[in-house]
Amino acid sequence: MFIGHFGVALAAKKAAPRTSLGTLVFAAQFLDLLWPILLLLGIEHVEIAPGITRLSPFNFTDYPYSHSLLMVAVWAALAGGIYYVVCRDKTAAWIVAACVLSHWVLDLVVHRPDLPLAPGGSVRVGFGLWNSLPAAITAEVLFFFGGVWIYLRATRARDNAGRYGLWSLLALLFFGWVSTLFAGAPPNVTSLAWGGMTMWITVPWAGWADRHREAS
Ligand SMILES: [Zn+2]
Repeated sequence: MFIGHFGVALAAKKAAPRTSLGTLVFAAQFLDLLWPILLLLGIEHVEIAPGITRLSPFNFTDYPYSHSLLMVAVWAALAGGIYYVVCRDKTAAWIVAACVLSHWVLDLVVHRPDLPLAPGGSVRVGFGLWNSLPAAITAEVLFFFGGVWIYLRATRARDNAGRYGLWSLLALLFFGWVSTLFAGAPPNVTSLAWGGMTMWITVPWAGWADRHREAS
C-alpha cells in the first residue's frame, strides 16, 4: 500500500493528540523508509516485473528485515519502547508501535503472497488486492481520505504554516501517488530505491505542519 499508510498516521493523531504527526508518519511508513536503504546497501532485493500485479510492477523477492512479520514486530516494539523512554506516554507509545505494525497488515492485504513471516522462513503471505485495480485504488483512497478527515476534525491550523504546510503535503502525497499509477515501472532498482528515499522528506514536513496546528 502507498498513501493508505499516511491515512493511518493521520488518523492516529486523534488517538495520540500530543504525538507529532511527523512521529506517526515515521512509524506508519517505517518499513518503506527502511526498505530503500537496505536495497541500496544490497541487503534486500527486488525485481522490476511489469504486469506481476495490476497495480505494482515489483517482485519482492527478498525483504526479510524490512517486511517479515517477526522483524516488523521487533521494529514496532523498538519504536514504542524508544517513544516511551523519551516521552513517558504509555498510550502514545502503544499507538506508535501499532502504527509500525499497521504497515505490515495493510501490505498483507494488497501484496501478492510475498511477505515472509520470519527471516529465512519459507511461508509467504499476501491477499493480492493489487491484482484488482478498482479494489486496490478504492482501498488506498478510503484509507488516505479517511485519515485526512479524522485529522482535520481533530486539529485546526494556528497559522498559515499549519494550513498550507499540511495541504501541500497532502497534495504532494495524493498527486504523487496518482502519477505513479500512470508512470509505469522505474528503469532500475537504484532509481526505485532513490525514489523511495525521497519519502523521508514527509517525516519532517508532517512534523513541521503539525507543530503549527492545535487540538480542535
Ligand atoms: Zn511496505
